Amino acid sequence: MATIRFNALQETLNRVPVLVEEKERRSQLYAKYVFNEKAMLQYMTAEAYRSVRDAVEFGHKIDRKIADQIAVSMKDWALSKGATHYTHWFQPLTGSTAEKHDAFFETIEGGNAMELFDGGKLVQQEPDASSFPHGGIRNTFEARGYTAWDPTSPAFIYDTTLCIPTVFVAYTGEALDNKTPLLRALQAVDDAATAVCKYFDKNVTKVSATLGWEQEYFLIDKALAASRPDIMMTGRTLLGHASAKGQQLDDHYFGSIPTRILNFMRDLEQECMLLGIPVKTRHNEVAPNQFEVAPIFEEANLAVDHNSLLMDLMKKVSQKHNFKVLFHEKPFKGINGSGKHNNWSLSTNTGVNLLSPGKTPMKNLQFLTFFVNTIKAVYEYEELIRASIASAGNDHRLGANEAPPAIISVFIGSQLSQVLDELENVTKGKLSPKEKTDLKLNIIGKIPEILLDNTDRNRTSPFAFTGNKFELRAVGSWSNCAGPMTVLNTIIAKQLKDFKVEVDKLVDGKGLKKDEAVFNVLREYIKASKDIRFEGDGYGDSWEKEAKKRGLSNHRTTPEALKAKISDKNIAVFEEMKVMNRVELEARHEIELEEYAKRIQIESRVLGDISRNHVIPTVIQYQNTLIENVKGLKEIFGNDYQKYASEQIDLIKRISNHIVEINSMIEDMTDQRKKANKLSGQKNAEAYCNKVKPYLEDIRYHVDKLELLVDDNLWPLTKYRELLFTK
Ligand code: ADP
Ligand code: MG
Repeated sequence: MATIRFNALQETLNRVPVLVEEKERRSQLYAKYVFNEKAMLQYMTAEAYRSVRDAVEFGHKIDRKIADQIAVSMKDWALSKGATHYTHWFQPLTGSTAEKHDAFFETIEGGNAMELFDGGKLVQQEPDASSFPHGGIRNTFEARGYTAWDPTSPAFIYDTTLCIPTVFVAYTGEALDNKTPLLRALQAVDDAATAVCKYFDKNVTKVSATLGWEQEYFLIDKALAASRPDIMMTGRTLLGHASAKGQQLDDHYFGSIPTRILNFMRDLEQECMLLGIPVKTRHNEVAPNQFEVAPIFEEANLAVDHNSLLMDLMKKVSQKHNFKVLFHEKPFKGINGSGKHNNWSLSTNTGVNLLSPGKTPMKNLQFLTFFVNTIKAVYEYEELIRASIASAGNDHRLGANEAPPAIISVFIGSQLSQVLDELENVTKGKLSPKEKTDLKLNIIGKIPEILLDNTDRNRTSPFAFTGNKFELRAVGSWSNCAGPMTVLNTIIAKQLKDFKVEVDKLVDGKGLKKDEAVFNVLREYIKASKDIRFEGDGYGDSWEKEAKKRGLSNHRTTPEALKAKISDKNIAVFEEMKVMNRVELEARHEIELEEYAKRIQIESRVLGDISRNHVIPTVIQYQNTLIENVKGLKEIFGNDYQKYASEQIDLIKRISNHIVEINSMIEDMTDQRKKANKLSGQKNAEAYCNKVKPYLEDIRYHVDKLELLVDDNLWPLTKYRELLFTK
């Protein structure tokens, strides 16, 4: 008997839902453990409060004496909430979050002790972080890293620890984390977008990027997950024959949320509320045991922090409910994978969403400006966007017959396409009063109505306009949103900066009116960026052909896609927008290639182990039973035995053939790994991608065939039907 598997099933079937009570309204729980405006006003002096606000709004430096005051207020607040420790919370390039806890507790004279915290500890810390990835930046002894307080994301208390969001940088200034480049990109887009906004409204002094992510995930019973070494080690199933029933009936999507899951969701949502993560939506997803959680959108830096924090929380809360949460982009073959849609827009300090048309012709022209510039930016830097979402896990989605394709394109709907088509005919240079009126009233004037009934949705598009925001759907469920958000905001900043230069040139040089100049530049942008717009089915072969003709990239694998991160053109845009320099980009590129290779390496090792040490011994055991059976039949029937034993003999042969194939492929795969390990960087990642990875599927094929041949009682690995349907 396959003890682990059957014990796990038994344990799962015996589960009693962990009850979750809701004693307080969500609105009362909201941000209780966040050192937000309300808490600051209550605990801080007016001077200290002003100083934090100035740092947040204008990036002003906080004076050391004031920092001391702020630290004391923060500590008092934290102690009042039961905190005992503090930590600098940051997002190193490992893709998760890092923290080292220190107690507030200090000993003082006379054998006494008290809780202490000062500005120095608030503002800067040096984590013992030599093991965080740095891509060679910190190779020299001098170039150590430190964390520095990011006042734009409020401190919060998790459990009994005050968590202070920080950036992680080398003493030589290079970013070592996900947040630093993001903050720089947000600054760049603020500068560029604010300058453009001034054409339309002089009161705009700040533009913030907004992000509303939608997080997809799977929940599997803890015991079932633990019974599968592949899930535990790699986050996905490397083996497992498809179950007879999968997602073909769509019954999970439309069914009610199961009780155990609902309790987990409630618990998670309440924890989110306390930490100020404004989660709002929960539902079943298409695949069995797949779900989604989404918040109200927020300023992008905060939203990124909140997504990282959410993923941490999900791991902890799922444990409590006897689940394991799977963030992998493709945990089950043949079943939908998970993504993380990034809904993105720009919003002004005057409360205007720049990707939402307004009531006046001027507001509509402003909308159009940001809309067209976004499309143009994506056109210019589609490869960089593709690179920003590349990972070993996401390769299973992108370009693998699943939403969305590896080709980046923009969907805007047929009606907006029509508007852009008409705008291509705008007269060059000065416009007649009639043309101007016609444009403003009849062409772009129609946009608000169009968007009201914009039901034109295309689920296959990786970058779709959805009425008042763009939705980047290609992000992997496991990734940190900071990567794609850094790229998107950087390229938009660059595009808006160039736009302003061109418009100013027409106004100052050619004497055009501002609106005329805007129309003129937009016309050219619409023409130039047409090839990135695609309204059809993104999955079909015909789109691949068409995209190739258009010159769009189609990088199916991570090592291929990542190259764009260090192309001269893309390094130039990061350097120009002061987001990252060549050293930082090359370091990141190296880290990502290495991470890719390591993931495939681990998968390959785990698969070798499971096949050799779990599957083959079981299969031989079963084969021996068959052999005994055949021998017995021979004893009874003599020469006639073949008549009765033919099925068994056939099975014995088939099993042997599969074993031979599996063993020889494991040998070959191991040899390929050895060869790959002698290489480094791009070559190493490519070897893992092209020489090692194919064996994963090939070996799986034979193991999955064996699963169908062998006595169910003996099969050691929890089966797909059990993982997906046992509740
Ligand atoms: P769906 O895409 O599933 O139809 P919605 O359109 O309601 O759902 O929104 C999806 C996500 O988009 C939500 O997380 C929401 O917070 C986010 N969102 C809405 N408006 C904006 C915006 N202006 N900027 C960024 N995100 C937004
Ligand atoms: Mg959506």
